[in-house]
Amino acid sequence: MKTSHGWFDVTEIGNGVWSIAEPGHEEQVHSYLIEGERDVAVLDTGMGVGDFRSLVVELSEREPLVIQSHAHWDHIGASAAFERVLIHPAEAEALARDFPNAELRAWFRPETLRGIPFPDGFDLATAMIPGSEASGMLHDGQEIDLGGRTLEITHTPGHSPGGITVYDPSTRLLFPADAVNLGPLYLFGLQADLVAYQETLDKLCALAERSDAVYPSHYEVPMTPADVLATRAALAEIIAGRGPDEVTADREVYAFERFVYWIRPGEVEKLR
Ligand SMILES: [Zn+2]
Ligand SMILES: [Zn+2]
Repeated sequence: MKTSHGWFDVTEIGNGVWSIAEPGHEEQVHSYLIEGERDVAVLDTGMGVGDFRSLVVELSEREPLVIQSHAHWDHIGASAAFERVLIHPAEAEALARDFPNAELRAWFRPETLRGIPFPDGFDLATAMIPGSEASGMLHDGQEIDLGGRTLEITHTPGHSPGGITVYDPSTRLLFPADAVNLGPLYLFGLQADLVAYQETLDKLCALAERSDAVYPSHYEVPMTPADVLATRAALAEIIAGRGPDEVTADREVYAFERFVYWIRPGEVEKLR
């Protein structure tokens, strides 16, 4: 069931898992709340629009353990509002930096918005995302015990150096953050690393084999485990010589049925 909370849509996925979506922006960011018997985890903290913390507290009274999938601005919006925040060490520094108004504003041009008004108290002319210190680190193979439910962390770099994926074996749900999704796959920024990404796709496919549904951090959710396998197969096709559909100054565009690769020029050659 989906309920609207102004800027946010909250959907109960079932088994103590909720998605907190931001459909008002074209990036369609999703954060997730995962309840254990003792502890509640929150995967990512939104785009910095609206009172994310109050919404989380409404959904679960317990002080959550925040798991940051990575430190891109659209995932760390309310990180500074929480006491317990975990991130991979490769992105702790980025989390600690302020994301200034000028940069935030550039992501909210009118054409990126989809008709949902900004909440009271949000002013695009002054909004910024404050940096914050993580209270702890995430690493590959880590298990996070929430009581009756243990989340498995896998390091999945490629989109960004410290990206992590959360797997919940008790519900067979996979949360790959920005590593895969049904839309553009951002592998064109300065942080992108296609060699690392190829290994990440092997890890994700192994996790997908153990999953019933996949909840990425952008666009339409859920995607299927078969979509994850298709993402790897598509990269293999590109490496085998499939040409781009479009080339711009900063990216090669490879369009597939359910997703689009945006790859920095020169990266594919490293794998050929
Ligand atoms: Zn990202
Ligand atoms: Zn993202």
